[in-house]
Amino acid sequence: MVPVNRDFSFGVTKLLRDPAIVKHLDLEGQIPEIYVTSSWIADDEVIHLEGVAESVHEGILVKANISTNWSGECVRCLSPASGDMKVSVIELFEERADPEGDSYPFDGDVVDLAEMIKDNLVLELPLVPLCKNDCRGLCQYCGQNLNIGTCDCKEKAIDPVWQALSELEFPENT
Ligand SMILES: [Zn+2]
Ligand SMILES: [Zn+2]
Repeated sequence: MVPVNRDFSFGVTKLLRDPAIVKHLDLEGQIPEIYVTSSWIADDEVIHLEGVAESVHEGILVKANISTNWSGECVRCLSPASGDMKVSVIELFEERADPEGDSYPFDGDVVDLAEMIKDNLVLELPLVPLCKNDCRGLCQYCGQNLNIGTCDCKEKAIDPVWQALSELEFPENT
């Protein structure tokens, strides 16, 4: 069996015995290896989950808000980028969950939320992270970070097509 993430697991024996109980969840901890191409959640970043768990006919229903911070690399200027993120989830945990289904499994008296949290955070990670919304990026000619300074490449750059045309049309000028 996959080792239980202790930060994000809780006992459900009482909950299953008495469906009238609503268990309040206020959990925090770390979950490693949450990443997409250009952004990730650092392995030591604290992930916070607050919500409720209740017993339903099929198993345990968890409704929660998950919050944490992401890190990444700005796709325009390649500088470090970061931001906060918040995801609301409603997920079902079933004792004999279908591996192909939408619900998560649990082992009888403990529900481990880590896999579910990971799945939901991966979906929310920015695919095109920016250091700031109006990042000016790098100069395509000299690589100057245009957030920090300017360069005169724009004025110097001549489109090779126009250069060729001007040579054809105005040979007398050269
Ligand atoms: Zn940037
Ligand atoms: Zn430049």
